Amino acid sequence: MQLLDRLRDLFTASEEPAPVQEPAPSLPPRAYESPAQGRRKRRVTDHIEKYYIPTAVLQETQRYVEEHGNRDHECYVFWAGAIAGDEAYVSTCVYPRVESRHGGVKVPLEKMTEINQELRARDQILLAQVHSHPGRARHSPVDEEKAVSFHEGFVSIVIPDFGATPVYDLRDCGVYTYTRDSGWQLLDDDGVVDRFVIEDTVVEV
Ligand SMILES: [Zn+2]
Repeated sequence: MQLLDRLRDLFTASEEPAPVQEPAPSLPPRAYESPAQGRRKRRVTDHIEKYYIPTAVLQETQRYVEEHGNRDHECYVFWAGAIAGDEAYVSTCVYPRVESRHGGVKVPLEKMTEINQELRARDQILLAQVHSHPGRARHSPVDEEKAVSFHEGFVSIVIPDFGATPVYDLRDCGVYTYTRDSGWQLLDDDGVVDRFVIEDTVVEV
């Protein structure tokens, strides 16, 4: 009997929950802050021709989405950067500290205000909202109604399957742009390739 108990103990001990995945090491903070150049004040044109996105931003976004996807949670990432003429340059991922869950994530208005304050201090503007879905990479009616911005040229990207289909190829995602005249427009593959320029963060020559 004692032996059976011991065996049961051993068996139970081996059923410990899987360790929580450690987040990837965070990037080093900025060594210094340069004076703002008024990038936020540049006029946003009615039509943004190109969006430039470094692979590092896609990689960080993917890591964050996967981390939530492993817990069957949706999540939001915002892309921020600057606009020059009719071109938008994404440089930064913004992770809102909000509670995530399976069926949709809410980013409350106060949090958006906080994000905007943070971006103002960095002379950046919000360029895109990116969020994950358990299934299809398509906007839900709520996504359209409750988008965090309705600025001309604002982008909304839906990553399917909780990130199992990665964000690296934007053609696998639902990529929408907003204009006052046409509302949210889903881009087809050619539209994505034409409008979204992916830039290598590292080039080995
Ligand atoms: Zn959604």
